[in-house]
Amino acid sequence: MIFIPEKCFRLTYMKKTINFIITGAMCLGISAPISINASELQKKPAKVENLGKPAKIKKQKQRSIKKVSPIRVESPVGTVPRLPWQVWVTYSDGSHEWRQAKWENYMRATEQAEADPQRNPVGSEYTIEGYIIGDNTTNKGYPLVATVVVTNNKWNTPNCHPVANPLKLTEVSINGKNRLTNNRNLNIKTLLSWDITQQLYNYRDTYGLPTDGYTVADGWDSPTTKLKGHGSGHYMSSLAFAFASCNPNEETAEKTELRKRIKRMVDELRACQERTFVWDSTLNRYREARDYAPDEVLMKMGGSWADFDRYKKDYRNYGYGYLNAIPAAHPALIEKYAPYNNEQGVWAPYYTIHKQLAGLIDIANNIDDKEIAAKALLIAKDMGLWVWNRMHYRTYVKADGDKAQRQAKPGNRYEMWNMYIAGEVGGMAESLARLSEMVDSKDEKEKLLEAANCFDTPALFNPLAANIDDIRTRHANQHIPMITGALRSFIGNCNPYYYNIAYNFWNMMQGKYVYAMGSVGNGEMFRQPYSQILSMNTNVMSDSKRDMYPNPDINETCCAYNLAKLTKDLNCFNPDNAEYMDYYERVLYNQIIGSLHPEHWAVTYQYAVGMNAIKPYGNNTPQSTCCGGTGAENHVKYQEAAYFVNDNTMWVGLYMPTTARWEAKGVTIEQECEWPAQHSMLTIRTNGKATADFTLKLRVPYWATKGFDIKLNGKSIAKSYLPCSYAAISNHIWKDGDRVEVCMPFTKHVNWGPDKMDLAATGKNEVRTPFSPQWVGTIMYGPMVMATKDIKEWKNADITLSSTLNELTLKDDGATDGTNDKLYTLQMQTPDNRTITFTPDYYQTDHSTHYLRIDMQTGAKKLVAKGVDKTLLEQALAIAKERMDNQKAWEAMSVKVPAFAPWAPNGYARLCQQVKAAEAINALDKKNLTQAKVDEVVSALNVAINTMRPGNLAEPEDLNKLLSLLTSAKNIQNKTTELREAIDYADMVVQYVNDGSGTHDLIEKAINKFGAVKK
Ligand SMILES: [Zn+2]
Repeated sequence: MIFIPEKCFRLTYMKKTINFIITGAMCLGISAPISINASELQKKPAKVENLGKPAKIKKQKQRSIKKVSPIRVESPVGTVPRLPWQVWVTYSDGSHEWRQAKWENYMRATEQAEADPQRNPVGSEYTIEGYIIGDNTTNKGYPLVATVVVTNNKWNTPNCHPVANPLKLTEVSINGKNRLTNNRNLNIKTLLSWDITQQLYNYRDTYGLPTDGYTVADGWDSPTTKLKGHGSGHYMSSLAFAFASCNPNEETAEKTELRKRIKRMVDELRACQERTFVWDSTLNRYREARDYAPDEVLMKMGGSWADFDRYKKDYRNYGYGYLNAIPAAHPALIEKYAPYNNEQGVWAPYYTIHKQLAGLIDIANNIDDKEIAAKALLIAKDMGLWVWNRMHYRTYVKADGDKAQRQAKPGNRYEMWNMYIAGEVGGMAESLARLSEMVDSKDEKEKLLEAANCFDTPALFNPLAANIDDIRTRHANQHIPMITGALRSFIGNCNPYYYNIAYNFWNMMQGKYVYAMGSVGNGEMFRQPYSQILSMNTNVMSDSKRDMYPNPDINETCCAYNLAKLTKDLNCFNPDNAEYMDYYERVLYNQIIGSLHPEHWAVTYQYAVGMNAIKPYGNNTPQSTCCGGTGAENHVKYQEAAYFVNDNTMWVGLYMPTTARWEAKGVTIEQECEWPAQHSMLTIRTNGKATADFTLKLRVPYWATKGFDIKLNGKSIAKSYLPCSYAAISNHIWKDGDRVEVCMPFTKHVNWGPDKMDLAATGKNEVRTPFSPQWVGTIMYGPMVMATKDIKEWKNADITLSSTLNELTLKDDGATDGTNDKLYTLQMQTPDNRTITFTPDYYQTDHSTHYLRIDMQTGAKKLVAKGVDKTLLEQALAIAKERMDNQKAWEAMSVKVPAFAPWAPNGYARLCQQVKAAEAINALDKKNLTQAKVDEVVSALNVAINTMRPGNLAEPEDLNKLLSLLTSAKNIQNKTTELREAIDYADMVVQYVNDGSGTHDLIEKAINKFGAVKK
């Protein structure tokens, strides 16, 4: 999601601005283009200080990779093999660890060839090269080979009935005084401070009810936006989760207040919805979704504000059950492919419908008042059936033909859901599939499930089902919830296609897209696979004087929220696979908890990652932005995936101080520990029964490579434990008071970036300083991403570490006394006796460095490659040429459908320039080339590829006119209120364009505002 309307920027964007001003950094203004010229490329690599090189690394402290188990996978014909993103490594000193792998088959063309049955028929066998990243055995890492056997079998898909489900939110309470309870309490307090009438204003406005006494909504729900309803949906989910997180055995004032608000939302929404129950005597039935805006009417409908003012008066025709904070014209306009445009089009109508359905479903599942729960479900069901009716009667799928042919008739879902932002439908499929599980009538179940799969996006789903990465360059958060929806629908339709989509997508995320703290994307978009470090280091922005600085805002917090949800849902189908809860722990303990300011209520939109990063806090209400919305839910549901259960087994997924009431089994598990926990004591309570019989499975985290132990009533249950697995106490007869003790000393390790760093924006006007290629990584301590404030420039970010990380010592064990600022602290001495201190990123707010250039000493012999290797050059050229072909095909069209080119012009021009340079080098004979020369041109080409933007998005160059207006406006001495508002709005637009998600209509609107002030 992008774009902030004028009313909310003080809450959100200004907060960020203030942060930057206070800290002396450089936020306002525009980002200049990243232009590449030959002279810059000839710059000598930057001189780097080697901070951590110990005088001598003792030989016995080194360990090198000795052995990796052979990798052999069976792959169904027509698919890309599923290769592991982490491999179990044996070191020379006998120790073990999971290490990250990178595979060389990630090019789109390579993947398509692998999935081609002609090339790889049943019975054939081939190999794929890969590397363990972060290792210096070769320039690319420690070499791996996977053998692939092509078979006629399908992938093993689990049964569509989940193996386990998480304990309900109401069954788990977080205890004690710690960061978790601090955040939860702050979330509830803040939630209760929000004005409920603001959440109801748009509904009354949309259904012809008086709005006297109701506060006008703000943020992305304000009257001048077309995303109204998204915030109210998140507000309802937040109320429901907060209610569930309160002690079930005690009626507190907070709980009473929460229930009161939930009841009011439900009652008023139903009153609005009932206004669509209009009997039509001609049809001899109620007016339905399919009757709204027949095709001939639809084709004449506009998307201007004046049009929408008219549509609002038409609520009697919305169709039975329509419930939304915007008129039914919004979802209808999508059917004629109305683009995302706040002035003349739509935003993302089904995205808002999803948030509201989710809010109502969350209320139905968590409130203790049966009447309210039933009413919430009824509203959601009636709206769900409206969606079914509209989809069933008015839409279809046509995937063949060209775009113009596919858009010839309204209602082609293949095109509707493939549109940028306008086709963003959030988790429509997930909510509809959940509703289908919740209703009783067979007919309604079937309709709701059919509606869920009407939100399939075959353009993305079909490649994903064959494990082909088609998410590269797509909008990240537009697509993650679609995957969650596909998985949820699998429970109802039992079609392995949907499970495979989710499974393949999740695994792609792990190796190819996640940062150390768990989220993905850059400026809301996925870039190329395995390019996180390049993405991070090429982001720049500048002040109004066009001085440029690095811009460390990277990944959207909504993506973290949605990836956590997808992980939780996948875990239900295979709860023994500890990779899921290992990842859940990573994203929750770092990015999600770290997205809330440690001292007051403010959450992040883009999370800052990299060098000297400042978290851009703001987004203070659920309606402010999308991340304000998910931010309102995040901190009242930390416990949602802590425990999974089925008839006979409990899986402990997360170690946090909690009471788990397993109601179906009649037992309670008291988990006593600090947070984060190195030691946890679980006490089983049988609640009056003599014994209870069940299997208890406890996660052995991937990082628990030393000293891990589980004791049952004081006795170890095993001699050794495999990290990233579950240890089971099987079919045990538990007595009241039985105790299970988990010891899991945090270990130091490195989470590596997948691509070596060979350039970086380094400071004022140093847009791309070349560096000698080096692995970069994040220091981890147990589950925690450790950040430092002691390094503020890449030029000072080189450290040498022995492979056992002995240089890093524990300064403070972080044992909490209930306050928030007692933190685990690591430190290391530099050769010149400076100290670098690392503390957990979840507590950081500003000037944090997450990634360092790390030369890890293993004592192993380096394998020197013979001759010049041009593989990377050829790969980069292939990507570039594919983009050029797409652009040329669009340019050759006589009628431009879509209206925008695949790629925006300035980035495209840079690409063409670099392709020329790269082709010249590629044409040279290897013996006339050095590896350094090849690497240099690859690096420049990769920058050009990675800084391109899709054609519908604005580029920094498009800001020139706005920027000069902004500069002169800021120089005016006595500013009127209108002028100040125009300046604030322009600053916001500049920020969005800088971050890589602003559109042309935003810029136009900002310019018009200055025009209006002049008049
Ligand atoms: Zn967001």
